[in-house]
Amino acid sequence: MKDNTISTIKDSTLKSKHTSRRRKTPHCPKCGQEIRTLIYSSTVTTLGEYSLTAGIEEDPATGETQEEEYSCTECGETLFKDEEEAELFLRGRGR
Ligand SMILES: [Zn+2]
Repeated sequence: MKDNTISTIKDSTLKSKHTSRRRKTPHCPKCGQEIRTLIYSSTVTTLGEYSLTAGIEEDPATGETQEEEYSCTECGETLFKDEEEAELFLRGRGR
């Protein structure tokens, strides 16, 4: 009896995984094209101090600010600025 219960649970887990794989292809909100990948780009801004005596001194405390961009492969428009949003979009659950 116990074994039966376990195999039923396993079956339903497999089924729900299968269903979630059937997702619609995301469309770019700007140009309407189907896109399966995004262009990723990042720029790192390094902050520091510049003086005539010391020249440029990069300050590791103020550090780096990094900007990420995820753009459409078809029209090049920037769609997202963080990975979470980009991931949700590609999974077909974004905006
Ligand atoms: Zn586009």
